[in-house]
Amino acid sequence: MDEHQEIKALFYEKGREEPLSKVGWWILLRWILLGVTILAGLTGNFLLNLKLPLAHILLLCCLTAFLNALLHYQLFTLKKAPSFEFNLVDRITYIQFGTDLVFIAGIFNDTGGIASPLLFYFLFHVILSGVLLERWACFLYVSLVALMILTLSFFEFIGFVPHVYRASFISKDLQDNPFFVFFLLFFFLMVLFISSSLISTLLKRLRERISQLTELEEKLEDTNHRLETLNLIAVKTATTLGLTPRLDLICGSVRELMGVKGVLIRLLDERTNRLEIVSSCGLSDAYIKTGPIDLDKSYSRTLKGKPHVVLDITSEPSLQYPEEIKKEGIVSMLAVPLQGREKVIGTLRLFTSERREFTQEEIDFVSALASQGAISIENARFYDVLKRQDEAKNDFIILMTHELKAPLSAIQGLLDVMRKGYVGAITDKQKELIERMQKRIDSVLELSAELLDIYKWQSKGVIDMALTSVSLKDQIQKAEDLFKLIAQKKSIKISYEVPDEQVNVKAGEEELEKVLNNLISNAIKYTPIGGNISVVLRLVDKQVTLRVKDNGIGISSEDVPKIFNEFFRTKEAKVIDPEGSGLGLPFVKKIVESLGGTIRVKSEKGQGTEFMVTLPRI
Ligand code: ADP
Repeated sequence: MDEHQEIKALFYEKGREEPLSKVGWWILLRWILLGVTILAGLTGNFLLNLKLPLAHILLLCCLTAFLNALLHYQLFTLKKAPSFEFNLVDRITYIQFGTDLVFIAGIFNDTGGIASPLLFYFLFHVILSGVLLERWACFLYVSLVALMILTLSFFEFIGFVPHVYRASFISKDLQDNPFFVFFLLFFFLMVLFISSSLISTLLKRLRERISQLTELEEKLEDTNHRLETLNLIAVKTATTLGLTPRLDLICGSVRELMGVKGVLIRLLDERTNRLEIVSSCGLSDAYIKTGPIDLDKSYSRTLKGKPHVVLDITSEPSLQYPEEIKKEGIVSMLAVPLQGREKVIGTLRLFTSERREFTQEEIDFVSALASQGAISIENARFYDVLKRQDEAKNDFIILMTHELKAPLSAIQGLLDVMRKGYVGAITDKQKELIERMQKRIDSVLELSAELLDIYKWQSKGVIDMALTSVSLKDQIQKAEDLFKLIAQKKSIKISYEVPDEQVNVKAGEEELEKVLNNLISNAIKYTPIGGNISVVLRLVDKQVTLRVKDNGIGISSEDVPKIFNEFFRTKEAKVIDPEGSGLGLPFVKKIVESLGGTIRVKSEKGQGTEFMVTLPRI
């Protein structure tokens, strides 16, 4: 793009509105000028008796008006057209200037030549030409005006054209003085050339400044765009779990953003001291199978934390697989380090199939992306390690609790034999001790059952349930029987309210029993002697709601959000039941959610607690 095109592009960059509005403005100005000229001609002749050649002036005005009307129509059609050529706008501008030149020349002659008060109109027109026309066209136009004034003056001087004396700011004597006329012409033409060239120079500078500003703006936009992209990739990688998907995401984004043939990530294997390919895109399988790179063969600059550009891969001596690279059609390469928190953990390479010189901005951008990627890779590695450790821990707990269950049950059985006196008579004191031992073993067995439940679910991610149609009313009846005695012991009154019709849900029977039992047993456990509990089952549209409400110890507002966390127990609950596990509610929540339901809790410390379970009804 040459300078003119650039400026023109800038000039017209505001779109179609700006050039069209300029032409429109110019046409409007001409209509006004025509009106003023006709009015001035009529006033001059009929009021001031100036004896102007009215017929001539009117003819000129009519011709110009006709041309202006044509231009007006052209502008009207251009405005309606969905698109137009900028050259056409240029052409209209040139036609306008040509028309004006003829018009002014005619009026100039009719109103007194060099002594015409309309002389200043030339100045005004020339200034406008500096704004609207290109530099060369402006110079041409000014030269034409000058030539026209000179020719007319010369013709008047030699008597070829008669000089018309009109009322003027120059006296008649001076108009007849050739020296005065020569100097007047000289100064006037000087003023014309100087003002037009000043205007075009000023505008040129202004346009240059605008162009610099636009360039800066573009750069800023570019930087902004890059920052946004970096941010987007950071967010995307942060939300992608696991190492491989993160690496693939980085590769794909870099390739797309930089428009390169292929991208490759090699990570350092510290055991072998080699760079292994871990992710790639845009490269053939054959190339990817080339194998690892030995550290001494790699680009040492990259591993020292500096980017490395190879313009022509054939002239790079440090390649481990030069033939394979050539076969792949790679010409240039940019290698940047994957700078982790403490050290370089690998390299990110961009390959192009044509010679490409990467700009400093591009290198900086890819380097920033690589550093961000490296941190994300490290995080993903930590995540993978933690996940493996967590899985190992879960497996260990499952195994341990399982292994504990058998000997504990055996001890329980043996203690039972002793307590019942089958191995000899025991004293009351011994019996009491054995019963206490059995109670302890029961709570350990209960804990191990809960642990088994929760860790089995955690390691599988889902709860294995044999889903059947379960009657909630039957389940509530079972719970009523189960908790009757226990509640009586604490003088707690439990009221049950169930609808008349059958209420069935799709669930695992055992799991649903656990939900109900856990909520009711907690209510009994955390309600002091003489308290009240209500169990209400209701049908709401296609949902079933089960509410278990007590007027027990309640839960403080800061503890409410934590009660579904594993092992969480309130201080007050620990006092009441030191052996509780804090595993019941998390498991209840998981079961309810696995069945497509929700569980909510409302509680006030010292006032009581209400759990509300909603399940889809069948
Ligand atoms: P656990 O009852 O063995 O402690 P849960 O997981 O069943 O374990 O309950 C977690 C905690 O939630 C309890 O320790 C207790 O602090 C609180 N909680 C549960 N149900 C109630 C209730 N009905 N009233 C007051 N606190 C309760």
